[in-house]
Amino acid sequence: MFAFTTEPAYAQQADAADRLAGYKKEFHFPVKDGREVIYFCGNSLGLQPHSVQAAIETELNTWRELAVGGYFNGKNPWLYYHQYCIPTLAKMMGAKDNEITVMNALTVNLHLLMLSFYKPTPSRYKVIMEAGAFPSDQYAVETLVKHFGFDPDDAIIEIAPRAGEKIVRTEDILTTIHSTGDSLAMVLFGGINYYTGQLFDLAAITKSAHAVGAIAGFDLAHVAGNVPMQLHDWKVDFAVWCSYKYLNAGPGAIGGVFVHEKHAGNADTPRLAGWWGNDEKTRFKMEKGFIPKTDASGWNISTSQVFNTAALKASLELFEKAGIENLRKKSLHLTAYLEYLLQQLPHLNFEIITPSDPEQRGAQLCLYFRERGKEIHDKMISSGIIVDYREPGVIRVAPAPMYCSFEDVYRFYEILKTNF
Ligand SMILES: *Cc1c(COP(=O)(O)O)cnc(C)c1O
Repeated sequence: MFAFTTEPAYAQQADAADRLAGYKKEFHFPVKDGREVIYFCGNSLGLQPHSVQAAIETELNTWRELAVGGYFNGKNPWLYYHQYCIPTLAKMMGAKDNEITVMNALTVNLHLLMLSFYKPTPSRYKVIMEAGAFPSDQYAVETLVKHFGFDPDDAIIEIAPRAGEKIVRTEDILTTIHSTGDSLAMVLFGGINYYTGQLFDLAAITKSAHAVGAIAGFDLAHVAGNVPMQLHDWKVDFAVWCSYKYLNAGPGAIGGVFVHEKHAGNADTPRLAGWWGNDEKTRFKMEKGFIPKTDASGWNISTSQVFNTAALKASLELFEKAGIENLRKKSLHLTAYLEYLLQQLPHLNFEIITPSDPEQRGAQLCLYFRERGKEIHDKMISSGIIVDYREPGVIRVAPAPMYCSFEDVYRFYEILKTNF
């Protein structure tokens, strides 16, 4: 599909033709030995957009000058602060505006949404998830089923790759959902597995969960800002994600939530509530009796976390301009180029665990080094390449299309080729 070469001219031409190339200068890059690093760690913590500082200063000014008046009369009235993030996130997630909100942080939201949707009975209580899910998700599901009095070993069904394989087959997920049938209460999958980089078929998983009467929920931490979704059309019940990975909203940034309108629009959908999810017409009457907002923000509990959300708001302005479809298109090219160049380095004795099918992955490639993994990682870091390392021997490399260039990928290859 792409006519790659190992000549540096390929990268130069691809950058020259890249209409998103200008976004690189909107970000702060760490500097090592007088040169900006090659930052391939946006799957862990995205870079800081230049605009974030001014966005936070705006709110500091409002607080200083208007104090409590900032809720109504600030430049961006705080009362509605979560709303400023919704339209762009809705586009990225393929959702309606009334299906999106931002609040809290990822694992907290995962708990809150699971508590809304996991309604186990003595016969229907099982949860299907991917084996090797992010630990926080594993802990969340483990403690959820225990909270309802079930034994995690019995209630949780993990789907692993087949013996000798590294990624999960979609057919195995669907077959397990089907065979669990009436005893399945919920499927809770990562959208992209954080470790292997495998992107799952959310539409198919949702469809088969619904076919047996179960709920389909997803953790989209590695999807948000990386791969566009169609959550509404796929009829996903709920999804949660963080905003500090590809969304570049900073450490501990406010989390994102999708609740399908068939649930969000129904005031009877159970939830653990607080005043920020109450109908705005009666919120400040301070009366008894929770009246939920009939959109996803009916799950908001506490007053807006303004400073935290300001960074996301600023970052999303870049996504709004760049367009998630354009970013994905660039990402497919960039990651395929990275894959091609890596394939020219057999002497490093590694394998790429991430699926080679571009439809089954996002920006990230997961490299498994059969030997010297940690040593190679340390050497990358000292060469000005920021990537992360996981035992045993795995280096995850994620060129985020918002701020990584083809030349970054080429430099990465060149350093590996000449110094390793
Ligand atoms: C990054 C990540 C988390 C982290 O959760 P926090 O609550 O934001 O600390 C959880 N789950 C997945 C799948 C992740 O990728």
